[in-house]
Amino acid sequence: MKILIVDDDLVDRKIIINALGGTKEARDITQTSSVKEGLAQLEHTHFDIILLDYKMPKADGIEMLYELRARNDLGNTAVVMVSASEETELALACIEAGAQDFIVKGEISQGKLQKAMVHAQKRFEIEQKMHQSYIAVKQMAERDPLTGLSNRYHFEETLKVMIANNKRTKHSIALLALDLDNFKYVNDTFGHDAGDTLLVMMVGRINGCLRQNEGFARLGGDEFAIILGGIAQINDVSVIADRILETVAEPFVLDDKEVYCGMSIGVAIFPADATKAEDLVKSADIAMYRAKQSGKNRVCYYESQFQAEFNHRYAIQTDIHECLKNERFTLHYQPIFELNSSNIVGFEALIRWPSDASKHYTPDKFIPIAEDTRQIIELGRWVFEQAVAQLKQWRSNSTIATNLSMSINVSPVQLRDEEFVSLAQQIVNDYGLPASSITLEITETAFFEDQSKIQQSLTDLSTLGFKIALDDFGMGYSSISHLMNYPIDIVKIDKSLQANQSNKSKAEMFEALVLMLSKLSFEIVAEGVEQNEQLSLCQKLEVQKGQGYLLGRPMPKTDAGKLL
Ligand code: C2E
Ligand code: CA
Ligand code: CA
Repeated sequence: MKILIVDDDLVDRKIIINALGGTKEARDITQTSSVKEGLAQLEHTHFDIILLDYKMPKADGIEMLYELRARNDLGNTAVVMVSASEETELALACIEAGAQDFIVKGEISQGKLQKAMVHAQKRFEIEQKMHQSYIAVKQMAERDPLTGLSNRYHFEETLKVMIANNKRTKHSIALLALDLDNFKYVNDTFGHDAGDTLLVMMVGRINGCLRQNEGFARLGGDEFAIILGGIAQINDVSVIADRILETVAEPFVLDDKEVYCGMSIGVAIFPADATKAEDLVKSADIAMYRAKQSGKNRVCYYESQFQAEFNHRYAIQTDIHECLKNERFTLHYQPIFELNSSNIVGFEALIRWPSDASKHYTPDKFIPIAEDTRQIIELGRWVFEQAVAQLKQWRSNSTIATNLSMSINVSPVQLRDEEFVSLAQQIVNDYGLPASSITLEITETAFFEDQSKIQQSLTDLSTLGFKIALDDFGMGYSSISHLMNYPIDIVKIDKSLQANQSNKSKAEMFEALVLMLSKLSFEIVAEGVEQNEQLSLCQKLEVQKGQGYLLGRPMPKTDAGKLL
């Protein structure tokens, strides 16, 4: 056993050495006469035990204990305190400071000393184990296991501390909220393990852009945050943010394939944008949301006028949730006419915000929000079921409506959902209706992302017998290739293409479009027929079907039933 004695008193050291005389411990004793010398010895030699005098000039034994126990490995040596005084309070103070045993100088004997040293070693071993498990738990509580970055909890604590410490400086703190743009695609295509690998690689790259990583945290999934202290001007932030975008834009190699994964970054500055940690986080999130909205793969800075819009969207999102839960949405039905016979051949189901709600929103306002939040999956399921049930009822009740069809608007988000196809099939089966009595209306925006998934869903639905209609054709970006590449039966010409007296070229455009679509053998539905001339033109051009305020507005189910 290697022993270090730290005692300024030569006589006391002799007493200890004599007491140990003859034992095997006595062979390996080092003596020092001050804390400073003792610590110097510990720098290069490992001792099993330190016999430490309490009372020494300059630094006393307790100070040395503090110094040792503050180290990562708790100083790695058991300590027996040796003191001239036998006060219990002093003994306790020594134990509290990290000594394992306490012995009074007047009582030193060979037996006592040996016993104290063995006890001290055992105790120290246990303390060290406890300390190690404490460190492990602390790590777990503060770190994200995949990337080793701080987790959300530790991030929030760090931000609070940094804000508190920053109050007296002239510099600002920047908070960056980062969100990967196509992470879901990576996970869906390559699997979660590959997704994890990508996250780890990405963290490595971003770390390369930062000065030190204590402010870099993974908040969950593909969401990250970075806290940058000591910001003197906005340029300090934009340099780093741009560097991050650049490095993330480089392709990642997964399964030997190059994968591109952009990033949206929102920035908020303390104290300019917010003075509290929670508010700063919220502001950075809003800015990040802005970055996503304005085309992804970019940096946006918090600007408070956007806060209002964000709050507004958030309120609608909450309302949608409530209305869904309480089944307060309703459907209106707009008749679709066969133009040569003036018969009603179908209805389009259009969702309506509860009429008794304090605020009112049109579908154009709340559907996009429901799509962003994926609430459209549940909402769409409800619409589907309601509309099919209604069709069943009309078909059974009326002799003339046995061939009636129902058009249901379907969002691209629904088409990308794994369960949509089987759900649609299930619902028509449950009501004993042929799939061909249901027309699914989709818009061209469905073809912009995840093309193969959408194509698959549409092909499956078409094979099951559902009719597919391309909605709003001719509005904004329309492409003939879409008509060719997807299983489309019906094209609905957008209401904006309806001609009016003041615009003759529009009538020509409408005519050309009808000719082309007829040549390609699509069934055509003219939307937004509001005037007699428009109806006449449609009839002259032999457009099969029409829909519009002139013919019938969207109406509650009872009115629609009477109309039938
Ligand atoms: P859309 O599919 O193009 O639906 C037709 C819209 O045009 C409806 O507006 C309808 O009220 C309106 N409309 C019908 N005839 C005329 C007309 O003669 N003149 C004019 N100016 N407008 C006419 P609404 O009900 O406000 O719906 C707007 C959009 O919201 C729909 O456009 C559709 O894209 C979406 N939407 C409505 N219900 C649902 C739904 O249940 N699910 C999904 N995913 N989207 C829906
Ligand atoms: Ca529609
Ligand atoms: Ca439409």
